[in-house]
Amino acid sequence: MLTVDEALRSVLAHARTLSPRREPLAGALGCILAEEVCADLDSPPFAKALVDGYAIRSADLGSGHARLLVVEEIPAGRTPARTLGRGEAALIMTGAPLPEGADTVVMIERTRRDGTDVLIDEPSITPSPGRNVLPRAGEMKAGELVLSRGCTLNAPRLGLLASVGRTSTLVVPRPRVAVVSTGDELVEPDQVPGPGQIRNSNASLQSALAVSVGAGVETLPIAPDQPSALRTILARGLACDVVVITGGVSAGNRDLVPETLKYLEVSRVFHKVRLKPGKPIWFGVGPARGEEPSALVFGLPGNPVSGLVGFLLFVRPALNRLAGRSPVPQGLLRGKLSRPFDHKGDRPTYHPSRWSGGEEPTVEPLDWAGSADLLTVARADGFALFPAGDRLHEQGEFVQFLPLG
Ligand code: AMP
Ligand code: MG
Repeated sequence: MLTVDEALRSVLAHARTLSPRREPLAGALGCILAEEVCADLDSPPFAKALVDGYAIRSADLGSGHARLLVVEEIPAGRTPARTLGRGEAALIMTGAPLPEGADTVVMIERTRRDGTDVLIDEPSITPSPGRNVLPRAGEMKAGELVLSRGCTLNAPRLGLLASVGRTSTLVVPRPRVAVVSTGDELVEPDQVPGPGQIRNSNASLQSALAVSVGAGVETLPIAPDQPSALRTILARGLACDVVVITGGVSAGNRDLVPETLKYLEVSRVFHKVRLKPGKPIWFGVGPARGEEPSALVFGLPGNPVSGLVGFLLFVRPALNRLAGRSPVPQGLLRGKLSRPFDHKGDRPTYHPSRWSGGEEPTVEPLDWAGSADLLTVARADGFALFPAGDRLHEQGEFVQFLPLG
């Protein structure tokens, strides 16, 4: 049976970063930029006032005193009509172009209007050209590189793209993920389960996990443990970049996922990984489809916590790679156990735990009822990793920690 590291290597060996595609800015948040972006114009395209006030010639200000004739009013969006002469001022608003002849703006709060004149009586102001003015191209010059290929598009960068005239840009697209829950026992969350039935929590859980790493998700209907219906739904999923299936991969006689995937020409890469919970995990690669890379197909065990661990360990790194990011950005964390923990088992175990950061991070393993117990995981920050083997782990001992987010 593969170890977690071997299985992850094998997954990543099949995961290729998606080919760049043009996306509208509105859909590009969080994506990796796949082109160099340059400014199309000088910004600002003219010297502009940074405050509301009076545009003047600094030479007129003497030692902070002046009476100047107000010859024009320049709101933002208007071009000044005339050149400012000696002894003249123009009332100017933030963002408006500075008139020819002016070289500084005195804040309106430091002036007094007297009819057609403005009085400036502020000895504290040293007349200095350029004060309260952003010169033409003071932010960026036409042709200057403003965003490099490979950066992550966050809100300021999307704003910047708009400011250089872009409505769309070349990015590594969001991986498309199909989520399929299998099981005859499943009912939708708005149903009251009948005898032997349970609500489908995996669809919400796995879809949210995929969205949280920036994927586009298609949640497909519940697939029954019945070959032809399962086939139809899985075939739909194979149109996506990644298919996440829950349930039906263990050794029971209703565990039809592996044989159905085989029928659909998905080649198995591995089945079963040495870990707990989540051992029966299945991974394969969909049929070839020309230029487009084959779908990556993950069959995760049905118990919600098993599926969650499988997603964090294998699906999340694969989605990161497809999206052009580093597969495992921070890896495992390390913290000290806040209480002794008696681990028993011949597989490495991911145990729901709380994490407290700070100078000496601590890990508190929670009482946990096993792989169906999502309540405990909902109170956890992630999973402490206990290596295979029966051993009492002492309080204060270091353990590795797999964070949820
Ligand atoms: P399986 O892997 O199909 O054998 O399922 C293992 C266990 O997980 C069974 O107890 C299932 O009822 C449960 N299970 C399977 N699918 C889901 C689901 N979508 N939501 C909640 N529990 C599930
Ligand atoms: Mg099942």
